[in-house]
Amino acid sequence: MYKPKLAIIIPCYNEELCVKSTVDKLFEVIEYLVSKNKISSDSYIYLIDDGSTDNTWSIIEKLHNLNKHVKGLKFIRNFGNQKALIAGLEGVRNIGCDCAISIDADLQQDEWAIEKFIDEFVNGADIVSGIRNNRKTDGFFKKTTALMFYKTMNILGAKIPPNHSDYRLVSKRALDILELYPEKYLFLRGFFNEVGLKTAYVKFDVKPRTAGKSKFNFASLMALALNGITSYSIVPLRFVAVLGFLMALIGLIGGIETVMEKLLWNNSPNGFATAIILLCVFGGTQLFCLGLIGEYVGQVYREVKGRPRYIKDVELK
Ligand code: UDP
Ligand code: MG
Repeated sequence: MYKPKLAIIIPCYNEELCVKSTVDKLFEVIEYLVSKNKISSDSYIYLIDDGSTDNTWSIIEKLHNLNKHVKGLKFIRNFGNQKALIAGLEGVRNIGCDCAISIDADLQQDEWAIEKFIDEFVNGADIVSGIRNNRKTDGFFKKTTALMFYKTMNILGAKIPPNHSDYRLVSKRALDILELYPEKYLFLRGFFNEVGLKTAYVKFDVKPRTAGKSKFNFASLMALALNGITSYSIVPLRFVAVLGFLMALIGLIGGIETVMEKLLWNNSPNGFATAIILLCVFGGTQLFCLGLIGEYVGQVYREVKGRPRYIKDVELK
């Protein structure tokens, strides 16, 4: 029977309260799957310390010294969750594995769903995306903004299944394809949906955080969403062009109409209020559109500098 070598990737940012219990729980899952002959016994866990300022890294080092199946990488500073995930995917590709699963350090995702991920992988899927059963653990604000984001992405043509988090399995083949994408601000959820590999879905339950607080705030979630939109869709730019054209057309028609009225009926329309309202509406729309274009220019600017995605400090293999 085919027993793939599994690597579990965990991004950690100031997770000293969770990291040890998470690793213990994941080893329970690994041992269970090894005993069922579903994965090979050299499967391992790969932790990426995203520049934590607490004891996360020293805990990871201790775990590594006790058990060489705990491997890890430390960033020189905080680069953000997406970069940590990418570093994890690249790291396990270099070390070697048949498939890799990414999961959060707070283990909010049900770790026992890993068995279903492996089953789908063995059945031939290159990507297995975890889909949340619900968003009970999220606050009202996060729930609505997340839903809006997935709706927007779908309207804009980047088909990301809603309620998909970064809990996913990818095959060695998908990891090899990832290497071909040089873009620095890669949006993983978009990438794995776009490559065209065979994808399966696994539903899982979300639990409350085991310990510590969420590392995401409004600004970092907005940045993630904007990066997702600007790196996977140019529909907003087209929308701006069409909007500009329509507004110019309305202005032209209005202008012609005014001139005609003056010439034919000699009545010059008065409407101070109308002028102000129009000014605000048109001015506001223009600024919005400029900002939108600015987002794309910013994306180009960040990419063109070609700075490294992340900088390694220490790696434990
Ligand atoms: N994380 C990270 N770098 C960051 C922020 C978060 O590596 O800058 C990690 C964090 O340690 C966790 C995962 O990303 O493993 C998800 O973060 P969190 O649970 O805080 O997000 P939430 O579940 O609230 O969306
Ligand atoms: Mg969490």
